[in-house]
Order: sequence, then structure tokens, then C-alpha cells
Amino acid sequence: MPELSTSSRKVPDRLLWGPTPASPLVDGAQHLERWRRRTWQLHGSVLLSHLYAFALFAGHAGAGYAPWPAVWVYGLWLLCGMGFITWAYASGWCHTRRDPGMFLTHQLVSIFGVLGMLVAAPQVAFQALVMLIVFSADGFLARSRTSFWLTWIATLAAVTALICWLGPRMRMTTDTQAGQLLAIAVVLGAVVRCSVLVTFFRSMQYRIAVANEKLATALAQIEVLVRQDEVTGVANRRGVMERLQQCRAVALRQQGPLCVALLDIDHFKRINDSFGHEGGDRVLRAFGTLLTSQLRASDGIGRYGGEEFLLVLPDTDLARAGELLERLRQRIAQAPWAQTVGAGARVTATFGAAQYRPGESVEATIARADAAMYGGKAAGRNRVVLEAEDRP
Ligand code: GH3
Ligand code: MG
Ligand code: MG
Repeated sequence: MPELSTSSRKVPDRLLWGPTPASPLVDGAQHLERWRRRTWQLHGSVLLSHLYAFALFAGHAGAGYAPWPAVWVYGLWLLCGMGFITWAYASGWCHTRRDPGMFLTHQLVSIFGVLGMLVAAPQVAFQALVMLIVFSADGFLARSRTSFWLTWIATLAAVTALICWLGPRMRMTTDTQAGQLLAIAVVLGAVVRCSVLVTFFRSMQYRIAVANEKLATALAQIEVLVRQDEVTGVANRRGVMERLQQCRAVALRQQGPLCVALLDIDHFKRINDSFGHEGGDRVLRAFGTLLTSQLRASDGIGRYGGEEFLLVLPDTDLARAGELLERLRQRIAQAPWAQTVGAGARVTATFGAAQYRPGESVEATIARADAAMYGGKAAGRNRVVLEAEDRP
């Protein structure tokens, strides 16, 4: 069977018997390839069921239940219909249609072929009716509701009209042994065809479940990444501000103390100048590790700006924050920076801390911590400065 070329052909935006590309991020060529594979598979399975149906009608003709000319006309109808669909898939003509899977054409070929047989040979009514039910069940594969209902309503109307018109001439071929075997083969074919359909739906359901699981995992990863600073591994500004808002809500509810501290690395520009940007990044990473190891799990740590970190200290009053930050300052000053960055490296940081006042915004608390920190810079750096005790 000739293959469709994916490179030159437009990716269909309305895909039958397959998922629609949901976002522009989906690889169009890959999606088209998957769609083509599935469409050919389904086309093959429909072709097989037509061959089986034709063989059964031929069997009925051989056993004297149906006229041979009707069977040959039926065969010719299938040949033309399926030949046309195969050509449409292979040439890519199907992509110029609104229904590139050619669902309605498939259904038209299947249902009109059987209806024709029913009129031409009412003696084989049992096979024809069973096949109509089976082909109508393919309606579940319809992409649009309209195609689905059209298939079912048209089939039901045609069958009702034919039953009324043909009346007692319709028969079930169980009066001879050959006829009985043929009737069994008809039911067998119907069961197999329905099983194929159910298997197809189940595999689709499974694929959707797997895709959903992958999506949920990816979403959880994105949730983390969106709040994480990629250099230091601690929270980014968004993440630490969210943490601060949570702590503020708890502090207000429990009427407990809450402190924030801003930490700015001293003369960081010089570190970059002496050890390169990569050296500066190593210092930032080391700060991430050091702060995480020194603070409690309930504290919030985030990179607030270039070389500035915001620390959120719940259940901590200003005096306690002062002690904690002083310990942290000493650890930073005494850390083996020469090993981390390079010979002669010395790194210190200046801290400014403020306590949250009930009713104020967190930005107001941060602004006071910032002012305290700048006070520390002005006073010579490498120190902890608590906000001025000018409470109203
Ligand atoms: P001060 O003691 O007054 O804080 O001086 P400073 O040099 O630390 O402050 P300044 O604001 O002059 O310089 C901050 C430097 O931090 C400038 C900028 O290039 C650097 N920086 C900001 N973000 C990053 C980063 O992600 N990696 C590195 N390596 N450097 C950064
Ligand atoms: Mg600095
Ligand atoms: Mg700074």
C-alpha cells in the first residue's frame, strides 16, 4: 500500500478515529504519523470484516439461499467503495475533506451494501440484519455526534422500512445443515467484530489513563519548578512570598510572632570580578545549601533578588531572630570559601530583620527589614541589624 508523505502534507486539524492535536506544542508530524497508523489499522479491520461478509453471502449463494448475481454486485460495490477509500488515504486526498478519516463514506459503503443485499435476497435477512447491527456499532467510532446519530437513525429507518416491505419473505437460514452452519458463522463474525471494537475502546481508555498520569506528574514537576530558583535550589521570589503569606495567615490566626529577614551578600560584585560569574554562582549555590541546613524545616528560604535572600521565620520574635541570624552570620563568615570559590575568597553577608505587625502587609514588613539591612551595609557590612524599635 503506498505511504502518505508526512513532510509535504498539511496536518489535519480535524482527525477522525484518533486524538485531535490539543495544543501547538504537540509535534504535528508525529501526531499525523500516529493518526495514519491507526487509520490504516482500522481500515484494514473494516476490509477484513467486508471480506468475511462477502464470503458468508457467497456461502449463502452456494447453499442456494441467495442469487449469485446479487452477491457479485455486492462484491463489486465493496470493491469500488473500499478501493475509493484506500485511494483517498494513500493519495492524501482525504486530508482535503472535513472528515479525513472518511467515516461517513465507510459507513455508507457498509450499510448500503448490506441493505442492497437485503432487498435483493430477503432469504438472507438474518445475516443482513446482524451485519447491520455490527456496522451500526461502528458508529461509536464517529468523531462527531451528528455522524453517530445519522448512522443509527438512517440504519433504523431503513431496516424498519425494509421489514415492513419485505415482510414474510425475510428468513433465517436454519432449515438445512449448511444454512445452520452459515447462521452460526454469522453470529461468530458479529461477536468477533464487536470484540475488536471493545478492545479498541479499552486500549484507547488505557492510553488516555496513561497520558493523564504523565500529565499529572509533569504538572506536579512544573508546580515545583515554578516556585524554585534554579541556581540555588531554594524557593524563588514567588515561592518564598507564597510561604510568607501562609505564615502571615497562621500568625494572625494564632496571634504568634513572625519575623522576616533580608540577607545580602557583601561585595558580591567583587566576587564575580575576582572569580568569574561561575565563581559567583558557586557562592550562591553554597548559600542555598548553608541556609537550608541551618534553618528549621518550617522556616521559609527564598532567593529574593540577585544576591539577596528572604528568610521567613514563623513562631520567632525579633530577639530570637537576632540570635538565630547572628549564628548564621558567623557560620557564613567562617565557611571554607577558599575551597568553594578559590584561594583568598572571603564571603560575608549583611542581615536586616523585622517583626510582622498584625494588620500590616507583608511588603511593609519586608520594607522595614530592607531598611535595617541597608543600615547594616552603611555601618560597615557583615552584621545583623534589627528594625528600629519604633513601634506605635
Ligand atoms: P553590597 O555589599 O553593597 O551588597 O555590594 P554588592 O557588590 O554585593 O552589590 P551590587 O548590587 O553592587 O552587586 C550585586 C552583583 O550581583 C551584581 C550582579 O552582577 C551580581 N549578580 C546578580 N545575580 C547574579 C547571579 O545569578 N549570579 C552571579 N554570579 N552574579 C549575580
Ligand atoms: Mg550585595
Ligand atoms: Mg544586593
